[in-house]
Amino acid sequence: MLQMQAIKKLTWFINTALMGFVIFMTAAYAHYGVTYMVYHSIPTIVAYVVLYWFIHKDKLDIYVWIVYIVITLYMVAATVCIGFNAGFHLYCASLIPLTFYMEYLGYKLHTRTASAMQTSILLVVIYLACTGYAVLKGPLYEVDASFTFRCMIGNAVSVFCFLIGYTSLVHKLVRSSEERLSEMAHKDQLTGLFNRHYVMNYMDELYQHMPPDQWVAMIDIDDFKGINDTYGHHGGDYVLTELARIMREVCVDCVISRWGGEEFLIVTDGTARDSEMLETLRRTVNETSFVFENKTIPVSITIGISRYEEGQSMDRWVQSADRKLYTGKSSGKNQVVY
Ligand code: GH3
Ligand code: MG
Ligand code: MG
Repeated sequence: MLQMQAIKKLTWFINTALMGFVIFMTAAYAHYGVTYMVYHSIPTIVAYVVLYWFIHKDKLDIYVWIVYIVITLYMVAATVCIGFNAGFHLYCASLIPLTFYMEYLGYKLHTRTASAMQTSILLVVIYLACTGYAVLKGPLYEVDASFTFRCMIGNAVSVFCFLIGYTSLVHKLVRSSEERLSEMAHKDQLTGLFNRHYVMNYMDELYQHMPPDQWVAMIDIDDFKGINDTYGHHGGDYVLTELARIMREVCVDCVISRWGGEEFLIVTDGTARDSEMLETLRRTVNETSFVFENKTIPVSITIGISRYEEGQSMDRWVQSADRKLYTGKSSGKNQVVY
């Protein structure tokens, strides 16, 4: 919704800039006696005024189509009237990204739209026809050379500014949506920790160059079913997010993942302090007050840790941590088993 508002605002601004440009140029055409362009500009200005209504009604797909037609007609008329040197034909270059944007809008809004490729080819044909005519026949109106030159500079600057702005905007959007998608693919929504898929890929990579003293820790919340039963599912979810926060705080430089349900897998960076760190984690969880809806939830965790042994497969390594975790579960819970 917010994005739609931003797009509408930007479109409103572009429409005003385009209309302002046409009004300004109409005065110049009147001054230099380019009568046809004055007549052509009047319906063009009316079109831009009407286009505000399309923006207001969220009909952006129709808006872009009309702008495309209006600019194409304007470009053809100005090129034929005052010649190739005035640089109006350059607008063709900015209309091509617009055709692809039109196709994209059609896809987003689920409306039928012409193929960007076909519209672009049509544009190239129109470009060749009008510039060919202007070059071979010369301009319909003889205007001051300095006016033509100023038109060329103005047109070139606007077209290049548009192309730079548009390309940088598209790249920013691509990058941010890539980041969002990768976040969604690698992270667990509830806790913000890495998901199982991510940590398995990470461990696969680890196997390429396994550092010495690498540990994995399997963590399971004690009596979590009871927490859900007593404090409700929301209470359980609260414990999961709070536990994730504590893990991030205590296990710095580790890859922490939600392995599934209320089980977590931590891959440590392989230093001697690992077992100490996991004991600190267990103690911190046990000593932290998990307060949900004014009720304190007693929470403890059991941890099984396993050091990588030469030649051990990933499955066996994780299973070994899991076995230790269950040893801890059957011998009283709330402990770290090495
Ligand atoms: P133990 O001490 O032996 O681990 O006992 P436990 O009660 O924790 O047993 P178990 O591991 O079988 O319980 C897992 C429970 O976790 C069952 C399931 O309903 C709950 N659970 C799994 N995912 C979620 C979740 O995303 N949110 C909540 N609130 N509960 C979940
Ligand atoms: Mg479990
Ligand atoms: Mg459990």
